[in-house]
Amino acid sequence: MPFQAESFLILLVEDDRLTRTMLRQALTQEGYRVIEASDGEECLSVYGRQQPNLVLLDAMMPTMNGFDCCAKLLTLPGAAQTPIIMITGLEDKASVDWAFDLGATDYVTKPIHWPILRRRVRNLLEKEYFYRELALVNQKLHQLAITDQLTNLANRRYFDDCFEREWRRSLRYQTSLSLILCDVDYFKAYNDIYGHQAGDACLQRVAQVLSHAAKRATDIVARYGGEEFAIILPDTRLDGAMGIAQAIRAELKILALPHPNSVSSHVTISQGVASTVPTRDIAAAVLIEGSDQALYQAKRNGRDAIAAFSAGQLITPFDSHPPRHGS
Ligand code: GH3
Ligand code: MG
Ligand code: MG
Ligand code: MG
Repeated sequence: MPFQAESFLILLVEDDRLTRTMLRQALTQEGYRVIEASDGEECLSVYGRQQPNLVLLDAMMPTMNGFDCCAKLLTLPGAAQTPIIMITGLEDKASVDWAFDLGATDYVTKPIHWPILRRRVRNLLEKEYFYRELALVNQKLHQLAITDQLTNLANRRYFDDCFEREWRRSLRYQTSLSLILCDVDYFKAYNDIYGHQAGDACLQRVAQVLSHAAKRATDIVARYGGEEFAIILPDTRLDGAMGIAQAIRAELKILALPHPNSVSSHVTISQGVASTVPTRDIAAAVLIEGSDQALYQAKRNGRDAIAAFSAGQLITPFDSHPPRHGS
């Protein structure tokens, strides 16, 4: 988006009514939106309410002068990034130094020479605009870098970072960390029957089910690779994680995406659940290996199943895979 003057709000702080009117008209003519304050106190309260993009601040004002106001302004949230131009009749070295030392961005003297002030305002706002756009682009890039494009879940890279972080956090606070690894059953056959595009759509539906089941803001659902997914569950014990795995299994049963060549004629997944309270003498990878072993066990148990790994051994919950007809 190009630079648009009307997207910027300027706070004009000036006790002299005539100067204020003159400046407001000049700024409005440039297209900027302008709000006004006639002393330092008013400046602080207006700033807090409206968060302008730039402040034009007169130095000599009653009740609170521009210097004190500038210092107070800079303690407000977000104000450190807001350019402040001090305007004053004072031209002595000490005043100029004082203003800059306080954190003012620029300094102009009275009588105001508008063509110069106009360029200074524009330059500062262009810089602000550039950084604003840059921040947006960076945010988008970061989002892209951590997102799986097919499912919109976290990608593998983000999973790796989060898992390390959550492991360290759980170690520090001595809380339980659980991990569920899932793998779609007979997915190669699904692609063979319905085609790769339908396979992609199926992975998207499965991803939605997983996201829906892992409800806490701190839970992280990721595409682990291909048709495999991972769910990091901070501050969650094994029973809680098993509950989520069972909810996912039940949800997929209700969703009933047709899959004639699978175990239950609908799309199912196998899940390996592992949980631990981290200690210094075990590596984070142990939890992943545990989930992986449990997942392998769930596959061996006939798929559409849940198996768990806890305290160094595999556990197959009795209700994770009720007997099928004819078996
Ligand atoms: P199992 O029950 O043992 O997991 O059998 P499976 O067929 O699911 O396992 P296998 O590892 O043999 O096949 C995985 C299949 O998943 C093969 C691959 O083409 C498919 N797959 C992986 N990623 C994608 C994807 O992004 N889109 C689609 N459509 N298919 C994918
Ligand atoms: Mg004044
Ligand atoms: Mg697989
Ligand atoms: Mg599979």
